[in-house]
Amino acid sequence: MQYKSTRNSSISISSAEVIKQGLSVEGGLFVPETIPAMTTSEIEALVNMNYRERAKVILSKFLTDFTEEELDNCINKAYTREKFGSDNIAPVYKLNDDEYILELWHGPTCAFKDMALQILPHLLTTSMKKTGETDEVVILVATSGDTGKAALEGFRDVNGTRIIVFYPNNGVSEIQKLQMVTQEGNNVGVAAVCGNFDDAQSGVKKIFTDDGYKDVLLHNNFKLSSANSINWGRLVPQIVYYFSAYADLLKADEIKLGDKINIVVPTGNFGNILASYYAYKMGLPVNKFICASNKNDVLTDFIKTGVYNKNREFHTTISPSMDILISSNLERFLFDLSGGDDSVIADWMAKLATDGKYEVSPEVKQQITDIFAGGCADDDETMQAIKKCKDEYGYVMDTHTAVAKYVYDRYVEETGDKTKTVIASTASPFKFNQSVLIALSGHSSVAGQDEFALLDKLSEVSGMDIPDSLAVLKNKPQLFNTVCAQEQMIQIVSDFLQIG
Ligand SMILES: *Cc1c(COP(=O)(O)O)cnc(C)c1O
Repeated sequence: MQYKSTRNSSISISSAEVIKQGLSVEGGLFVPETIPAMTTSEIEALVNMNYRERAKVILSKFLTDFTEEELDNCINKAYTREKFGSDNIAPVYKLNDDEYILELWHGPTCAFKDMALQILPHLLTTSMKKTGETDEVVILVATSGDTGKAALEGFRDVNGTRIIVFYPNNGVSEIQKLQMVTQEGNNVGVAAVCGNFDDAQSGVKKIFTDDGYKDVLLHNNFKLSSANSINWGRLVPQIVYYFSAYADLLKADEIKLGDKINIVVPTGNFGNILASYYAYKMGLPVNKFICASNKNDVLTDFIKTGVYNKNREFHTTISPSMDILISSNLERFLFDLSGGDDSVIADWMAKLATDGKYEVSPEVKQQITDIFAGGCADDDETMQAIKKCKDEYGYVMDTHTAVAKYVYDRYVEETGDKTKTVIASTASPFKFNQSVLIALSGHSSVAGQDEFALLDKLSEVSGMDIPDSLAVLKNKPQLFNTVCAQEQMIQIVSDFLQIG
């Protein structure tokens, strides 16, 4: 299987090359030339497999240039009992007869980013080897919270890689900061940047586009790379868990082979929901996708009107990992819906860059509304959903999952669609302890309490155990205390790599 770019269909490269390059030179995203199929009997065969075996079936259809041994090696290093707490890597929780929660947060950092970032480093180092690269990869990440920690955990102690994460000094939660500054591993670096997320991100971008510095790095046998969510190596592992959830529902006799399900995804960059759409294109029986946004509702409007317009106020919400105005992975979806028309995609993306908006054709819009519904929830509605779900089912969700639940409940009210539904749950409630506690027990319950008191309290209220990886933060030494200005970021990288 070869890959092309959404903005240049004449490109034809292997998956190893795609994972190594990340982004195509003209700015497009890599997509497979054809989407492979899963037959009904192949889906049925997943039922009696564990997660690693299921992952191998899906990944081997896309990463056809990887040997069986290479795939086994990547999968076995990523999806372990040790890292995910059990062999049930992505468990499905039955909320009621129609609704199932796909819990994607049992990995080491308690957010769904682990599902991809635990395996990406291995896919990347394998790809480097396969394409004859001998330089060491240096991963640079600017993070608003979840990605930085998940990338640190994924790349820690992976041979042939170094990782440096920059976070905004005043832009992450206390738990997120503690998760990063206590990071262990012999190839990791963490620094705070004065300013907000944009300052950290533009600092990283400057390093990436500094040709002089690139030469310095090359001279020292280092090659820069990124771990962001447009890399195919992050997307393809996310397809696995939608098939896995379907197989689990079959196994538990909740559905019959061939039954369609609905899928609800709390969405930011459109990566997670795009993975579910690829699963559908491969043959997963899906009735509707429900795309849930927070107050940053650019996708809700897009699904309704066919106009993508990012010219709007940016809102900071209690579901910060979805505070996004440009959903980069939408480009892959539109490429597929337009029948692989690279020139129309290049045109829309150019309009997005210059005018901040574009409108898709009536044909593309029709295809979207046939299979997608969209909706949004503000912070109050998110809080209501957390409380209501706890009261009705005794189940406690995080703020991102609650956006999905709220939007789904409205969808059912409006349509009466009672198709069995899988709701993607993207973070542990403990990761957003403060907002979850306020939703459950009011503001007074959090006043004056530190992070660890909040974890204890949430454990009490929810009846859930505090995830080990968060509980241990209390006693971990803080290993990184560097705070730098944006202009010093290059020096931080050089110091870390011990080059001139
Ligand atoms: C990243 C993230 C999302 C959004 O996922 P996308 O793939 O960007 O749409 C939702 N919830 C949580 C907790 C996240 O970390």
